[in-house]
Amino acid sequence: MIQSRGLQFAYPRAEPLRFADVSVAQGGTLLLRGPSGSGKSTWLSLASGLLTPKAGEVVVGGQSVGALPAAARDAWRARHIGFLPQKLHLSEALSVAGNLDLVFFAAGLPVDRVAVTQALQTLGLEALAARRPSQLSGGQAQRVALARALLLRPGVILADEPTASLDDDACAVSLNLLLASASGLNATLVIATHDARVWQALPQASVLAFTASFRVAA
Ligand code: ADP
Ligand code: MG
Repeated sequence: MIQSRGLQFAYPRAEPLRFADVSVAQGGTLLLRGPSGSGKSTWLSLASGLLTPKAGEVVVGGQSVGALPAAARDAWRARHIGFLPQKLHLSEALSVAGNLDLVFFAAGLPVDRVAVTQALQTLGLEALAARRPSQLSGGQAQRVALARALLLRPGVILADEPTASLDDDACAVSLNLLLASASGLNATLVIATHDARVWQALPQASVLAFTASFRVAA
């Protein structure tokens, strides 16, 4: 479950971003919908504790994220949030399987080989386990990043522009995988997107609408 109230954030020397309140039940789907630069990625960073609100709060799975002490945030994020970033940030120094191992290190947990193998199997990636990220297609790399996001069975999945660089077929595949993955975990799924194909494919989802704030020079 995700709830926000009076949430605001301000980058240095910029007008504050003010976010509308939202409430999504556990297992629900929320679309952060709006043009580039309207604050969608910032909202995801607030919900995952990478940024601290200037005002208001966002409560994720019962935890007011901004209230977490700095030292506890990384572990909380690693254990509760599955993040599919826009830039995938797979390490070229490691194999596909090694990239999944990193999840356990980040959470301060022993590597669970069985879970890694299962995650790769679920997404049809077992044959690619030994490859480096640069030896994957874009769609395969995204599936690896999704496997990484799902590995610790998070209660919340945050996806930032997951379809931005995909053609129509790959877009449908990627969305279906995200929805099936969230549903398999009863995770709340948040998708930030300016892609109209996503809104059309998910007519039942809750929507948090973002509007671009253009400031006219005085
Ligand atoms: P979106 O994801 O909807 O494209 P963002 O959340 O990335 O929007 O950005 C919202 C606004 O905040 C934009 O005006 C952007 O230029 C600004 N912004 C984003 N990141 C930073 C940053 N690290 N420092 C300063 N301004 C930023
Ligand atoms: Mg963004």
